[in-house]
Amino acid sequence: MDIVKIPENDFYKFVDKKIAEKSSRIISVVRKGTKFVFDELDSASRMCLDYDVTILPPKKYFQPQKETLLRFVPKQADSYEAVNEFEPITLIGVHYYDLAAIYLMDRAFSEGKKDENYLKKRNNALLIGLYPTHFFKYRFSSSVIKGEQPYKVADLMLIHMDDGHFALEIVTEKGRAYIEGAGCKKSDYTLKEIEDAKNRIKDDQRLPIPVELTPDYLMKNHDHPVWEVFGEKCYSCGSCVFVCPTCYCFDMKDEIDLTLKSGERTRNWDGCMLENFAVCAGGHNFRGKRAARFRHRIFRKGVNLPLKYHYWGCVGCGRCADACTSSIAGPVKVFKYIEENK
Ligand code: SF4
Ligand code: SF4
Repeated sequence: MDIVKIPENDFYKFVDKKIAEKSSRIISVVRKGTKFVFDELDSASRMCLDYDVTILPPKKYFQPQKETLLRFVPKQADSYEAVNEFEPITLIGVHYYDLAAIYLMDRAFSEGKKDENYLKKRNNALLIGLYPTHFFKYRFSSSVIKGEQPYKVADLMLIHMDDGHFALEIVTEKGRAYIEGAGCKKSDYTLKEIEDAKNRIKDDQRLPIPVELTPDYLMKNHDHPVWEVFGEKCYSCGSCVFVCPTCYCFDMKDEIDLTLKSGERTRNWDGCMLENFAVCAGGHNFRGKRAARFRHRIFRKGVNLPLKYHYWGCVGCGRCADACTSSIAGPVKVFKYIEENK
């Protein structure tokens, strides 16, 4: 992999040039009050690459919160028209754990019946990753992500160096073509300097057991009191799943407008922590209890997805722990409770 360098100021000028070109929507991290969000840029001066975590992960650009899949005229079977709206985007400054999550999303939406609505958006996106420069108290990515995982989706990786430059790893040919004309120079950093800069921010939290052991570990603790104890405190608000970069469940709705002349089928974010998520025909709810929903979410991350994809189903971003009013959603806290109450 080639590594080049560019002064930070020049990189910002380059982003302004790309915004002016209008060949893709340029999306990056911007401030929102005291927090950070991914948003479209009209000027690189809004871009903030020195952030702790964004409120929502970038999955919203590939699986929007609400997305139209079909348009139709009621009672006219031949009127059904598939909708797949997408446009080229460039995402700048995606932390490495969010890239790791996009890799899991790609697997979920491309295996079996391919999801063309997701894949068109993904295939028209260029991803510029970033190593964090700011501490986030709930992050534990270093204990759950394998090093190669972010590089499976990144086109370029940005690394803040101490001398006012970005080192830029060129991961794909698409990434190489993108930065042509940016004025990058060949890197003269040693590999140790690059590695040190990548690992500048240490996680405060770690999963208390090795990540590869979690499927067996959780299966053995299927009936542990932790699920009742934590479930008892859960409000079923769904915040932990909506902010999660690896949660991709959705629900479908057919909506007809008031004139009864047109309708749309939409898919909308849904989540296993919501009370009605598992209601099926006849009104039966096969996960009606909070403890069962709480256990299911942790089992998805620590058993089902690792067995299916050989990567942990949680990337350790810590958003769920931050979003949970009841302070119970973070996987580290769950595993620690089990360890302390064997
Ligand atoms: S489970 Fe929590 S820590 Fe893990 S990826 Fe989802 S939001 Fe992040
Ligand atoms: S955020 Fe907390 S309270 Fe809300 S559903 Fe998740 S675990 Fe329950």
